[in-house]
Amino acid sequence: MNLEALRNLVENNPEIIEGNVPARTDSDATLGVAKFIAADEGNLGRLSVRQQHHFDNFILPLIEHVKCGGVFGPDDDGGDGCIGNGFIDDADLDNCYLMDEMLCQECAEVQNRMQDDR
Ligand SMILES: [Zn+2]
Repeated sequence: MNLEALRNLVENNPEIIEGNVPARTDSDATLGVAKFIAADEGNLGRLSVRQQHHFDNFILPLIEHVKCGGVFGPDDDGGDGCIGNGFIDDADLDNCYLMDEMLCQECAEVQNRMQDDR
């Protein structure tokens, strides 16, 4: 889990967390859990079963083992897909959210190189 990324999401991009919650689920509850974990050093021990469910399903996928968006988008969206291992390094997540570019290091490098060429 990338606690730093979680904190930044809670503080600066709560809509990303809300956007990851299905329509029929209470996204306020999810955000509450996210805030709680961000403030409690990532300590999951005090979550209720229901809160843990929110965390596992709607929060953790945003801050751990996140899929790379791929250069020019995913394969099935006309892009080239990911040229790395398909996932963003947990350590890079924070920066990805900051830059609003969900790319692994390999893809980010290619993208930067292409932008430099222009
Ligand atoms: Zn990639």
